[in-house]
Amino acid sequence: MTIQLENQSIQTDDQQALLGKSLDELTDWVQQQGQPAYRGKQLHQWLYQKGVRSLLEISVFPKQWRENLADYPIGRSTIHYRTIAPDRTRKYLLRLADGLIIETVGIPTQKRLTVCVSSQVGCPMACDFCATGKGGFSRNLKGHEIVDQVLTVQEDFQQRVSNVVFMGMGEPLLNINEVVAAVKSINQDIGIGQRSLTISTVGIPGKIHQLAQHRLQVTLAVSLHASNQRSREQLIPSARHYPLDPLLDECREYVQITGRRVTFEYILLAEVNDLPEHAAELAKHLRGFQTHVNLIPYNPIQEADYQRPSKQRIQAFTEVLRRKHITVSVRYSRGLEADAACGQLRASRI
Ligand code: SAH
Repeated sequence: MTIQLENQSIQTDDQQALLGKSLDELTDWVQQQGQPAYRGKQLHQWLYQKGVRSLLEISVFPKQWRENLADYPIGRSTIHYRTIAPDRTRKYLLRLADGLIIETVGIPTQKRLTVCVSSQVGCPMACDFCATGKGGFSRNLKGHEIVDQVLTVQEDFQQRVSNVVFMGMGEPLLNINEVVAAVKSINQDIGIGQRSLTISTVGIPGKIHQLAQHRLQVTLAVSLHASNQRSREQLIPSARHYPLDPLLDECREYVQITGRRVTFEYILLAEVNDLPEHAAELAKHLRGFQTHVNLIPYNPIQEADYQRPSKQRIQAFTEVLRRKHITVSVRYSRGLEADAACGQLRASRI
């Protein structure tokens, strides 16, 4: 089912958006407006629990004050477009205050509702198999624009979000300050445990180290995608500036500092990186690492010429890793019918 939704856009000034602010910051803000401190708590509740889109809606606020603040920027996006796949996965194109469009996905399972959020508008990494990478880069998202994606999916499903993965458009560690701010707000303001959040990165020199200093309890997922440096450079142009060994060293340090495991993602491209010897080579690199490997069979995109491997090939790859005592899972993308590959819906609608 495909539904076209286009609400009128509320113009917001990014500098002042109320969304993303903590209880203390909101309390300061209401006091600056000449209101008593307890209105900060009310504002926090109406922003994060009730999901108001205008301060006018906050019926517990004095009428005159509400009316004065009717146009005050909150920082919510509008749903520009939504598709619902037969497996109930919902993909959204969200329109930001400046008119730019991002992708967000809501993935329901029996017990969970996972949101896949974008961290940038587009992506500068230009990975060869990725639709977002083919579309170029516009700008970083603000923290509140990430928080908004979680609230939007929660409201649309009318169900609490249980998990958030930074696996939408963009490279989160190129926008680390806003991503960390968003993680804190999703955790403290929306109330989702840090252990239920995953940040996925292609690896940017020094940035995993920087993230570790925040000592968050989030899961770090690293998009390895290749079992040796040469093959990785062919798929991921930025890998030329970041060889495999220092990347893996930085991951080891992350585990030491945070006490959290690192997950490695590995896209499976037929005949390119899916042979049993690739699996053996990968296992060698990961020896002694407390880790989990997530295999992602390639989602075909229009702009690239790769193929998804057969089930038997995927099985054989998995077996090699298991025999080397590496825990492994295969992640089939949900909502394939609805332009599932990262950035594909946006590319096809704009
Ligand atoms: N920049 C982050 C997030 C990217 S999207 C990162 O690189 O990790 C999340 C995952 O989807 C990444 O592992 C990415 O490489 C993968 N991905 C992108 N395009 C894909 C495609 N067409 N098929 C399968 N996985 C894809």
